[in-house]
Amino acid sequence: MQNEQRMAYLVSHPDEVKVVSKRFGLGATSLDRYLELDGYKAVPKAIQMGADAIINEVKASNLRGRGGAGFPTGMKWSFVPKQSPKPKYVLCNGDESEPGTCKDRLIFEHDPHAVIEGVMIAALAVGSKAGYIYLRGEYRYLLEIMERAVADAYARGFIGKNIFGSGVDLDIFTHSGAGAYEVGEESALMESLEGKRGVPRIRPPFPAVVGLWGGPTVINNAETLASVPHIILGGGEWFAGLGTPRNGGTRLFCMSGELERPGVYELPMGYNLKKMIYDVSGGMVKGKTLKGVVPGGSSVQILTPDEIDVAMDFDSVLKAGSMLGSGGVIVLDNTMCIVKFALRVTQFYQHESCGWCIPCREGTDWMKKTLVRFHSGGGVAKDIDNLKYLAENMLGRTFCPLGDAAAMPIVSYIQKYRQEFEDHLNGKPCPFEKAAEPVAV
Ligand code: SF4
Repeated sequence: MQNEQRMAYLVSHPDEVKVVSKRFGLGATSLDRYLELDGYKAVPKAIQMGADAIINEVKASNLRGRGGAGFPTGMKWSFVPKQSPKPKYVLCNGDESEPGTCKDRLIFEHDPHAVIEGVMIAALAVGSKAGYIYLRGEYRYLLEIMERAVADAYARGFIGKNIFGSGVDLDIFTHSGAGAYEVGEESALMESLEGKRGVPRIRPPFPAVVGLWGGPTVINNAETLASVPHIILGGGEWFAGLGTPRNGGTRLFCMSGELERPGVYELPMGYNLKKMIYDVSGGMVKGKTLKGVVPGGSSVQILTPDEIDVAMDFDSVLKAGSMLGSGGVIVLDNTMCIVKFALRVTQFYQHESCGWCIPCREGTDWMKKTLVRFHSGGGVAKDIDNLKYLAENMLGRTFCPLGDAAAMPIVSYIQKYRQEFEDHLNGKPCPFEKAAEPVAV
């Protein structure tokens, strides 16, 4: 990818609070430049603090998992047993694949050493001597950046034997996935890292107790880990104060759709979604109006225009009937067909279903088939309720969240845009297209 194309994601707005993105565009892939920009200062401080104090600081920060689940990071680390007969591990989940989400790639691309520092601090907190950075298979060019950063850190003695004279040995490895969305699920990621097919594990036991190669394992999203050095340097209280109660810090929000200024913005947790669309991203492009917003990646429920006056933190978005998820804000405009959107989303999940459990494997396939026929003008009235019934019966009945991710949005589209589904009935062409083009199956 050309540099100019990559830089196009680097937008800015006065309301941004740059913490995780503060080194973006400043050449911090170079280790010397990273050091000039406060790099590798957090690890020696964390060594001085000791494991318990690190965990307490992260707990105080109210940092919650940025991959989508929003689980409190400090609490997750505290579940790892202090004594273990097996080695402990730290995994950075960089398998960013949720449609609408392109934030972790910017971290790897512009600030790879921050991820390494985050992994190191997590390792110090839980007593691990090995960290893995797992990158999405499609992020091949980022693997080169990360490998170079790890090699540079080894060459300077920052990782490896006796880090910062502490007596602690810590190794870090990079690993590339093979292009499976499902591997973003933590237990499937561990299976993949062990060289097996990337399908989820049955839990309990949870990774904190039995994880990679059976050892206690902490697994965190890349943005989560990249936040940690800033928490160690700035203090948990400072980080917590940037956001809302129980939702500390900032978030990289990926604004996509027919907006004047789409891109990735770092805003305080709890920033208003409506403002994010109409102010930060410049509003809808001329001639388009807002139809709906998917606030947290394609797997969450849609919000209608009168539901978007909401604070973008985990608790508030949940209360509003959706989820903050991965931070991928997908804006739909008035020219988009909700049925076609439902079809595209379903095609994705059907393609990515690992096929292990029946409700997901068969459910996504049936939904896709129904939506293809429906969008092509072959729908009948009972299809709408059947689709909803099918999706509702997938919810909570699958081994991993992919089944829910495929079902939840469909239920919300039908609930909130039923009329658009009805407008496709009885052989009528899609009202949003001159002729409903058949969609390749
Ligand atoms: Fe596989 Fe889907 Fe079941 Fe997850 S929900 S285990 S992706 S079949």
